[in-house]
Amino acid sequence: MLVLVNATVFDGRELLPGRHAVALEDDRIVAVDAPPGDEADDIIDVDGMTVMPGLITCHLHPDFYKFDIFSGEKPGKELPPGVMMAIGVRTCRVLLESGFTGYVGASCAHDIDASLKVAIAQGIIPGPRIRACGHHIGTTGDMNNRSRWWKPYATPGLDICDDGPDAMRKLVRQEISRGVETIKIFAGAGHGIPSRTARNMARDEIAAVVAAAHERGARVRAHVADREMILECIALGVDVIDHGDEVDEEIIDKMVEAGTFWVPSLVYLWSLLEVGYAAQFGVTPELYEHVRRVLPTAQRAGVRILVGDDYSGVFRHLIKDDPLDHQVGNYGREFAYYAEIDGLTPADVLSWGTSNAGQLLVDPPATVGAIEAGAMADLIVIDGNPLDDLSLLARPDEALRAVIRDGELVIDRLPPRPRSTAT
Ligand SMILES: [Zn+2]
Repeated sequence: MLVLVNATVFDGRELLPGRHAVALEDDRIVAVDAPPGDEADDIIDVDGMTVMPGLITCHLHPDFYKFDIFSGEKPGKELPPGVMMAIGVRTCRVLLESGFTGYVGASCAHDIDASLKVAIAQGIIPGPRIRACGHHIGTTGDMNNRSRWWKPYATPGLDICDDGPDAMRKLVRQEISRGVETIKIFAGAGHGIPSRTARNMARDEIAAVVAAAHERGARVRAHVADREMILECIALGVDVIDHGDEVDEEIIDKMVEAGTFWVPSLVYLWSLLEVGYAAQFGVTPELYEHVRRVLPTAQRAGVRILVGDDYSGVFRHLIKDDPLDHQVGNYGREFAYYAEIDGLTPADVLSWGTSNAGQLLVDPPATVGAIEAGAMADLIVIDGNPLDDLSLLARPDEALRAVIRDGELVIDRLPPRPRSTAT
């Protein structure tokens, strides 16, 4: 048993007053505040540092790293599959070194999420807890399928497509058979993907995807930005709204009622505006400001908002210190970014990347993203109080002292300590 004593604790919702002891046994948190007994074989005095759930990003493409958005090529085909997997391995390292112990995939080529998950479970590489996604599912001639039609899709990169409810059901089942736990659909356009029409999939196709996924215990996430399409996705049982640029008060009520998750992923829109390509990609400053305005309303209403974004590095040559490049510390910059919005607090946005995210990362009754007895032992130790200074989460080289994944110290920069070795 490992016990962290003398800890300031952020439990995934709030900072607990005083100092606490957090006891871990195997891959679980077994007690908070029970005095360490004889069975504790490693007691670490963290001297008031903050123990909190490991951070979890809920919109991640582990293989988006060398894709050139301006090339006209299709993502997932820019490099051979093995090299794309190597990029995924690199992303896992960057996540852990950034204090992220979990990610929920938002699509990848070549089954990379599911393969990473196996490699981590087999002890081949260290890595975060993963909820695996797969291809973008869409329809023939849709916005991901209509360009470069003369290049065959026999070896899909990121995008696969078919038509009609029966075909959708089959695609979903094929994805699940390859280890996918969250089906990604391109239900509609927007959020930097312009299209002549907002709709990208027919209603009966979305319904078939949701039914086929839920029957087999998978969840469904939808790229969707248009108001009517978001309402349709929620009504049909889509679990995660990705982007949701036109979320309004009616949609907020529907999301609360249905328990829908929402990943606003605003740093991508910020980046498009910053580089001056927003108009070309169908984004306006007004739309960006609209999302910032509705976020506090959604938070107050109880929407399960999540952090995560389109990290890729596509702007690394255009923006100095590109916030969406896969570099250590960048994923944690989102917390300070969102907390600057009037009406949101540091605890609100920290809960997006911990307790809210945990509810998507694992299926009940498992719990992660919380410091409580019974939760999975994925946690981090921060030198300082992130609620006072969220930028600590963007400076892991200075502030991140430990990363514990499944009860094991995978990064240990804690001060040297005497070890008691009771057996
Ligand atoms: Zn994405």
